[in-house]
Amino acid sequence: MKNFGDGRRAASTDAVHAGEQEPRPEGAVVTPIYQTANYELRGEDYHDIGYIRLSTTPNHRVLGERIAALEATEAALVLGSGMAAISGSLLTLLSAGDHVLVQDTLYGGTAAFLQQDLPRFRIGHTVIDPQDPSGWAASLTPTTRAMYVETLTNPLVQVADLEAVVAFAREHGLVTLIDNTFASPINFRPAEIGFDLVLESCTKYMNGHSDIVAGSVAGPADLVRRVKVMQDHLGGSLDPHAAFLLERGLKTLSVRVREQNASAGRLAARLEAHPAVSVVHYPGLASHAQHERAARLFDGFGGMMSFELEGGVDAAEAFIAALEIPMVAASLGGPESLVVRPAAAVHAGMSAEERAKAGIRDALIRFSTGLEATEDLAADLDRALASLPRAVAGLTA
Ligand code: PLP
Repeated sequence: MKNFGDGRRAASTDAVHAGEQEPRPEGAVVTPIYQTANYELRGEDYHDIGYIRLSTTPNHRVLGERIAALEATEAALVLGSGMAAISGSLLTLLSAGDHVLVQDTLYGGTAAFLQQDLPRFRIGHTVIDPQDPSGWAASLTPTTRAMYVETLTNPLVQVADLEAVVAFAREHGLVTLIDNTFASPINFRPAEIGFDLVLESCTKYMNGHSDIVAGSVAGPADLVRRVKVMQDHLGGSLDPHAAFLLERGLKTLSVRVREQNASAGRLAARLEAHPAVSVVHYPGLASHAQHERAARLFDGFGGMMSFELEGGVDAAEAFIAALEIPMVAASLGGPESLVVRPAAAVHAGMSAEERAKAGIRDALIRFSTGLEATEDLAADLDRALASLPRAVAGLTA
């Protein structure tokens, strides 16, 4: 199979071609769906035999090479969900008695896995402030093995001191893991600044069509291989039909994400200037606390933002109800713009106290910018804001 992932080609080319089969079977331009659970034995190493659960079908192999090229890593493995990538990687790296340092706000499934499942295997974690490296050493234990962060946090799109994470982990012999889902490799390739394992929920931007659940793990070949062997046992493999859809989705990753970056940037600026909006969290805005870091590290600021209205929860609810284009739904990264009030939905599982500590206020609105025309989205946001009665909007003048 051809692999163009040697830095010679742009991500938009890699997204279409890296890892594609050579020769093309029957001349097929698109990788066919290999919907066969098992394959004839032809003398291979038993662990490399073709079998869907072992992620060794041609659909898995093409995707592995394509994602490795996009993430700028030696190898990658595609899996049945983002959580399969996250849980499988942590279970590969950590054994009974081990400990991991984690960022304070994490995707809910990851936080639940750390809090509810790993302690049963005597694997502990300590939450660190990702903006304050000076406090990290105090959280180390003799059995700390890894550090786990997210490129952009949900829903406040904060950017950890990612360079300090890599430097600290190197100094203390820790493996670094990063969930890059909100950025996608078009906007940020964590391996380029030294992260070991890069995880994606391919359910989001990577596939980009809101129609499958998938995940990926990218990094050095030996580490990715270890995650694969663990997942061979856990059984979190991706079905070939979903792999086919993911490969199709990846072909447009670069154009989709660049469009979403541009659209989100314009919408964020417009919202920030609106009198009914009290705060906008978007790393592309100069007002964002880590804007300078995001501008230095990222190629784009992404399609995710969150904001609050002057009128608080009542205004947020009325505004969301008045929107015509965005759907009220969790998840993100698809062609459809989505809106959600995290305290009432995606972060409802946290206690009010935990949310307050994480800075997730009840009135916060999260917005995933889709691929609709920016002008239509802007007009819809403006109209929904204008529809709020002045008292509800918090406008007194
Ligand atoms: N990581 C992030 C940042 C997410 O938002 C999600 C899902 O919402 C996941 C991981 C889990 O991915 P999946 O639903 O594909 O298992």
